Amino acid sequence: MKHSLIILVSSLLIPLFSIQLSAQTKVDSALLAEINQIKAIDNHAHPLPFLNEGEKDVEFDVPESTPPLAPPVRLRLSNPEYLEAWRILYGYKYDDFSEAHLRELLETKRRVMNEKGAAYPAWILDRLGIETMFANRITMGRGLTAPRFLWVWHANPLLFPLNNEEAKKSNPQREADFTTDEKWLKDFLTEFKLTKLPETLDDYVNKLVVPLLERRKKDGVIAVKFYAAYMRSLDFADVSEREAQRVYAKYAGGNAPPASDYKVLQDYLFRRIALECGRIGLAVHIHVGAGAGPFFYNSTASPFLLDSMLNDPKLRKTNFVLIHGGLPFAQATSFLLGKPNVYADFSSQTFLTSVRELSQVIRSWLGRFPEKVLFGTDAYPLTTTVGWEEIGWLTNKSARQALALALTEMMNDGEITRERASELARMVMRENAIKLYGFKTR
Ligand SMILES: [Zn+2]
Repeated sequence: MKHSLIILVSSLLIPLFSIQLSAQTKVDSALLAEINQIKAIDNHAHPLPFLNEGEKDVEFDVPESTPPLAPPVRLRLSNPEYLEAWRILYGYKYDDFSEAHLRELLETKRRVMNEKGAAYPAWILDRLGIETMFANRITMGRGLTAPRFLWVWHANPLLFPLNNEEAKKSNPQREADFTTDEKWLKDFLTEFKLTKLPETLDDYVNKLVVPLLERRKKDGVIAVKFYAAYMRSLDFADVSEREAQRVYAKYAGGNAPPASDYKVLQDYLFRRIALECGRIGLAVHIHVGAGAGPFFYNSTASPFLLDSMLNDPKLRKTNFVLIHGGLPFAQATSFLLGKPNVYADFSSQTFLTSVRELSQVIRSWLGRFPEKVLFGTDAYPLTTTVGWEEIGWLTNKSARQALALALTEMMNDGEITRERASELARMVMRENAIKLYGFKTR
């Protein structure tokens, strides 16, 4: 019995070992070199405008050091990949993170920024080989201008027009997010000369939501973004307009609505905004999957929660882009890409996982719906030393390596030719995005 078990175990070990071997594929270096030359379209990022010394960004209050709760390993200041980023971007001469050297780095960074002025953000893109970066911001600012930077505007505050005090109580992170959205919604009302929230849902939609979307479109916005997953579940149900009107009218005066009533209104608004976006030609970006911060609910951020909304026949003229691709539910995303109006980028997977893990996600997406896969970095300012520039550098590099690795494996397994590998690389890095958003390139 024991002996036969040993034979069984050893016969199982052989195929396991060979799988292990094939998992260690070395990247095709010529293909990687080719991919490194492609001028990319970055589907999702949060660059900062050029700021004078001491000037604060309207959106990001960038801390000097990382917050007490450590971010994932590749985003920590101990990551040696940043040494290379600093060397290439700012001529950093050291192999360490000593305080004196980092102080010198910040001085160099400031000097380079001052020299370049408003050309600084585009200068960074040149260093990364990115032709166009989509800037996901509430406002743009100096240096964040077309054609190098295209605007993805936050429509999220429009979902939460009523009293949010109950939702804020759930945790400090939600309290901060709702407070920010309330401030931005107030700014939108002021922009349209509304001194308070309109009394009816019809007025809210017709006097604020629709004209605001149309104005942003005219201002050059190419897509709107929802980070609702930070604040509620992604199950946007198909609710009746009458129900939504009732909830709005009852609570527009300022009383706090019960959570179930408020959800009805938010669900209605999400689908209504998506419908209007389809009508005027704006794509809808939705954060799906893992999020930042110690209070993020992963279980209510699964892309499959969007199933009913994505299957709404009325919304088939709206293009939806699943931002970050839904990690750790990236396989679920690969099947949603089968819907004609659904796309995904792998931004943030570029720093949340290893190159090899990301290559497996890219491979599964390319094996199903290659015309729906978009390159993205999610470059954002973490600290003054690890800013959108360094994260952009790290994630741009990782994405290209992971794409090359995925394509190498597909060639090795006889799934695609070398020629098709080049074609797929161009599609992911730029051509899919150009087709989806229909903008002109340089
Ligand atoms: Zn982002």
